[in-house]
Amino acid sequence: MKNEPIHYTVVPAHPAAHRFEVRCTVAEPARDGQRFALPAWIPGSYLIRDFARHIVSIRAESGGKPVALEKIDKHTWQAASLKQPAALTVVIEVYAWDLSVRGAHFDETHAFFNGTSVFLRVIDQENSPCLVDIRPPKGKRFKDWRVATAMPPLRAAGEKNSKNGGKAKPLGFGLYRAENYDELIDHPVEMGHFSHATFDACGVPHEVVITGRHDCDMSRLTHDLKRICEWQIRFFGEPAPMSRYVFLVTAVGDGYGGLEHRASTALLCSRNDLPYAGMTGLPEGYRTFLGLCSHEYFHTWNVKRIKPAAFTPYDLDRENYTTLLWAFEGFTSYYDDLALLRSGAIELKDWLELMAKTISNVQRTPGRLRQTLAESSFDAWSNFYRQDENTPNAGGGYYAKGALFVLALDLTLRSKTDGRISLDDVMRTLWERHGKTGIGVGEDDIHAIAEACSGVNLKRLFTEGVSGTRDLPLKKLLATFGIELARETAPTAKAPSLGVKTGSDANEVKLANVFDDGAAQAAGLSAGDILLAIDGLRVTPATLDKLLARHQPGDSLRIHAFRRDELMEFTVRLDPPSEDSARLALADGPNTLRKQWLGD
Ligand code: ZN
Repeated sequence: MKNEPIHYTVVPAHPAAHRFEVRCTVAEPARDGQRFALPAWIPGSYLIRDFARHIVSIRAESGGKPVALEKIDKHTWQAASLKQPAALTVVIEVYAWDLSVRGAHFDETHAFFNGTSVFLRVIDQENSPCLVDIRPPKGKRFKDWRVATAMPPLRAAGEKNSKNGGKAKPLGFGLYRAENYDELIDHPVEMGHFSHATFDACGVPHEVVITGRHDCDMSRLTHDLKRICEWQIRFFGEPAPMSRYVFLVTAVGDGYGGLEHRASTALLCSRNDLPYAGMTGLPEGYRTFLGLCSHEYFHTWNVKRIKPAAFTPYDLDRENYTTLLWAFEGFTSYYDDLALLRSGAIELKDWLELMAKTISNVQRTPGRLRQTLAESSFDAWSNFYRQDENTPNAGGGYYAKGALFVLALDLTLRSKTDGRISLDDVMRTLWERHGKTGIGVGEDDIHAIAEACSGVNLKRLFTEGVSGTRDLPLKKLLATFGIELARETAPTAKAPSLGVKTGSDANEVKLANVFDDGAAQAAGLSAGDILLAIDGLRVTPATLDKLLARHQPGDSLRIHAFRRDELMEFTVRLDPPSEDSARLALADGPNTLRKQWLGD
């Protein structure tokens, strides 16, 4: 393997056309024709996205002369072999108009990219260091733009700033450096006029960058993030595995998403979920945002460093199958809210509410009884990340359901060992054995480690909860910890049930999901149908529940609906309101196990 650095230059070239120009120069290209490829997917988001489809032009040159490029598959090109040793440059233009945490986005207000969208992989030179020259767009209006990324600025001694970009100053344009391609694509980059705040957590400098229109109270946000980050660093043990960390937040009108990286996270949120000056208490939207931050931060350890063996290394050309995503997302989903509680960012009543919500969500997914956690993980590429109208009936997902299994595992360990061993021990053992060493987690290792840590036989729990589809005995488990789990009808769903989920369109009642064995499915209604009238009266999103509330379970209704452009009539026999809403409450009196677990 060669070790000359690969040089990249990123220029946000055409804001109106949303195009980056990216150059990749290889000092020692393969003599028989260097190949270049763009990843088919971005680690953390398990779907083939074929980022190369956004390359709108590509050309190669060497010594000022064009070099022929042959496209050999959907994301790989091969350059003609050079007659004598010389550097080879490939120049691509990339269309960037995906405002998500997974792609690239660029207009005159800001530029954001993930390396997987813009950096060609130089095949067989993946271990070479990478130098990246990040340049500003041309024009006066961009002269105040800054750069935010966890990619380290070049640290070459004696490096002089030159006209075409020297070592980058903090938040500045210029040269950055990554150890290898794997690191290069793990540092998303934001450019523009963003808000920027810093805080220290256990000696590690942290930055919060918010782009987009917003009125965030940065001091409240950094105050809350600091305690969450410090709790997590101490949980796994100091020193933290990263020397700095950046929260890259994009605030929009309505949005939610996050993607984890080794020393940063890209987040998308609704601007109204951010804290504002003078805000008191903890509004639900802000609690959700803190939960998202906590989730992605926990991934710094769990999935960015403790990884399934199937990801060591990632194969960026195709799907990487593992049955373990439930563990990486389930442990992280369990600990994200627990970290909020244990760090003091939320109170026990908030945590009980959040956990009850998770239980309700799983309960409302009939597919949980069809698809196991292991299957859901394995099929993420074609299932979980490609949801359709039948997803709730066919699959259970692995986020919420994974978190509930992990809850059951924690409670089992604690109760069977009288509080001596808990999931915390399992998590820290995973960190010692796999995170610190870089050894991938084998498909059966979680089960084995949990048993080895505790001496408890967990065969039945794993068989039923991971490779089976039985509902977990949460009510019984929680009772041991002085927490009562009740199932009731949600206050917003007191009317008899149609067994559907409707879409969010304000004008028409469109069925988004028709649940298995519900009243609508039995009557022949389908997802996509538009309800027009119930018993001859027009139905709208505002009147649907009111019309249903005037009936009793067992009543028959005449429903008119459009399927495509065809008018159809159905007779629906209403079901009782479903008791799918979970409520958690503390039982009277102290409970030692609960106190050890939740602090109260
Ligand atoms: Zn996650």
